[in-house]
Amino acid sequence: MNKRLKLAGLAASRTLRSGKTTLVDADSSEKTSPYFAGEKRSARKKRTPIKIEHEATKDDEMNAKEREDAAVSTDVADVKVEEREVENKNAEQSTDLKDIKDEERWMPPNWETVLENIKEMRKDETAPVDTMGCHKCTDRNASPTMFRYQSLVALMLSSQTKDQVTFAAMQRLNTYGCQPDIIVATPDDVLGKLIHPVGFWKKKVQYIKRTSTILLDKYDGDIPKTVKELCELPGVGPKMAHLCMRVAWGEVSGIGVDTHVHRICNRLKWVRKPTKTPEETRNELEDWLPKPLWSEVNHLLVGFGQETCLPRFPKCSECLNKDICPYASKSGEKTKK
Ligand code: SF4
Repeated sequence: MNKRLKLAGLAASRTLRSGKTTLVDADSSEKTSPYFAGEKRSARKKRTPIKIEHEATKDDEMNAKEREDAAVSTDVADVKVEEREVENKNAEQSTDLKDIKDEERWMPPNWETVLENIKEMRKDETAPVDTMGCHKCTDRNASPTMFRYQSLVALMLSSQTKDQVTFAAMQRLNTYGCQPDIIVATPDDVLGKLIHPVGFWKKKVQYIKRTSTILLDKYDGDIPKTVKELCELPGVGPKMAHLCMRVAWGEVSGIGVDTHVHRICNRLKWVRKPTKTPEETRNELEDWLPKPLWSEVNHLLVGFGQETCLPRFPKCSECLNKDICPYASKSGEKTKK
């Protein structure tokens, strides 16, 4: 027997002699002797599950909050994803709508061919507007400010007046001194003689003098740079204001529709339904004509109206558009052969 077994045997006999039993001893006896098995089983208490009361600490609260936040942020992320999906759907829909809008936007049939034909007919620039239009009426040596003033005066004179007559009147005015301070100081009858025989010359004397006074008082002798302000000047309407923005300031603010443009657009059916005024025609035209063409369309159509698509007896037989023009096919008998 080895030394370890001897010590265990001594411990057991000492326990038997004293009659004391400890749980630890019993436990240990179970492993060493079956003698105490029955006693130990009866002495063992049935264990009840221990309920651990746990006091929430700050860390726990923070963890819970983090979990809550995480849950919320997941929810938010979900919502954001959903929102993005909705946005994407909306973007797709709006692209669709834009496409539909572009597709549905009314445009006159063959308008590009018609315009190309007009450009072809106008390529030699032989119309009065090409050599005597308002853009040709200013004094070549005028300062930029005086160039703008003279452009405005030429436009005011050109209303209801042939280009040749306007051009001649502007030549006389430029020689006399076409600047606002000189015009304001000029007696009405002298100014009348200078601009006669432009259409409505008496009225235009008043318009030009009042406008010149306003320009001196309000714009330091220059002209305003917006359509709205230009239209506030006596004798200046939207057509003149848009043309003035282009000629004087080099800006395209809208299409200048005069009697030629108004008539030709109606003949070509470049308006959805016949229009009664140039202003109505301008609205129609600006609705569909691509903006890059706005600056040239007035000049093209005015010259075309002066040479070919005349107010009375248009020269349809000479026109490159005669086979596709709605007016020519309807009113062939009225046209000049
Ligand atoms: S065919 Fe006649 S009406 Fe038509 S654009 Fe030409 S000239 Fe004008």
